[in-house]
Amino acid sequence: MMIIMKTEATENELNDVISSAEAQGVRTHVIYGAERNVVGVVGDIRGLDREAIAMMPGVDHTMPISRPYKLASREFQKDNTVFNVNGVKVGSDEILIIAGPCSVESRAQLLEAAYAVKEAGAHALRGGAFKPRSSPYAFQGMGEAGLELLAEARELTGMPIVTEVMAPDQVELVAKYADVLQIGARNMQNFNLLHAVGKTDKAVLLKRGMAATAEDLLMAAEYVISNGNRRIMLCERGIRTFETATRNTTDINAIPVLKAQTHLPVFLDPSHSTGKTEYVTAIARAAIAAGADGLIVEVHPHPEQAVSDGAQSYKPEQFADMVKQVHAIAEAMGRKVPQH
Ligand code: PEP
Ligand code: MN
Repeated sequence: MMIIMKTEATENELNDVISSAEAQGVRTHVIYGAERNVVGVVGDIRGLDREAIAMMPGVDHTMPISRPYKLASREFQKDNTVFNVNGVKVGSDEILIIAGPCSVESRAQLLEAAYAVKEAGAHALRGGAFKPRSSPYAFQGMGEAGLELLAEARELTGMPIVTEVMAPDQVELVAKYADVLQIGARNMQNFNLLHAVGKTDKAVLLKRGMAATAEDLLMAAEYVISNGNRRIMLCERGIRTFETATRNTTDINAIPVLKAQTHLPVFLDPSHSTGKTEYVTAIARAAIAAGADGLIVEVHPHPEQAVSDGAQSYKPEQFADMVKQVHAIAEAMGRKVPQH
C-alpha cells in the first residue's frame, strides 16, 4: 500500500504516519519526492487500519499497489532510480559499461584485463572469485585470493569491482572487497541470499534466472529492496529456450518490459545471453537500442586460455570495437556513455 502525503505535510506528520504504521506491524519505505512524499507500506497489511491512517494529519490519501512486487514497481515510484557507480549516473541518460573476465585466474590475467577494458572505455571491472559451475570438478574460483586481486585492480585502475556472491555466509567477506555484489542466474531465487545482500550497503547486480519470468526477477528484486537496499541493477542474461544456435536466448523484450514495470536500472549481458563472441556486439547494440541502462561484458586478454567462458569472451580489441558501436547507438538514443 502507498500512503500519499499532502504537498504541505510536515516532517513531524510524516514521522507520525511512519510510527503509526510500523506500530501495526508493517515496514515502511519513504520516497522523498520533489512535490510530495510517499510512504510505501509492505509486510502483512491485513491488520492495518487503512481508514485511520488516511485520516491522519498530513495524509492526502492511501492507495493499494496492484503488482505483486511493491517497492520495485513503477506504480510505487514513477521516477527512475538513479545511483552513482564510478561517476556514471546509472538509471539516468548515462550508460554504464562493466567488463572483465568471467573468472579471476591470476594477478597477471586480471591486471591485463583491467587495464585493457579501462582503456577501451569500461567504467567498472567484473571478475568472479566464487564461480557457480555446472560441474563440481570444474574450476570453482580463486575465493578470497581472487577478491584480493580484484581489490588490487581497483586500486591500480580506479574502477569499482563487480563480483559474484553465491551464499549468504559469503556476503560479509565478498562485501568487504566488492563495490557491486553480483547475484548469478542460478541464485536469483536464493531467498536467503537476497535477504542478506539486501541488508548490505553495496549495490547489487541481480541476474535473471535462466528459467525465470520478468515478474520472477522483479519479485527477487523485491526481496532485496524490502530489506532496505535500493541500489539494484537488474540484468537480462538470456533464458533457456529450444534454440540451440546460441547458449541462451536473449530476451530483448525484457528490456522494455522491465523498464515499464520497474524504476530500477536494467542491464544486459550479451556474453552469457549469446555464448559466442560473434554475436556479442549485435546484442550489445540491440540492448542499448531497446533502452538498457548498461552492459556487462566478458573480456579476457587471452580467451583461448580462459578457464571459464572463453568462447564468449572478447579480446580487448574486440571489446574496444564494441564500445565504439555502443557509443553510436547511445547517441542515436539520446544517451551518453561517459568517458573517463
Ligand atoms: C557470470 O557472470 O560469469 C555468470 C556466471 O553469469 P550467470 O549467472 O548469468 O550465468
Ligand atoms: Mn561467465
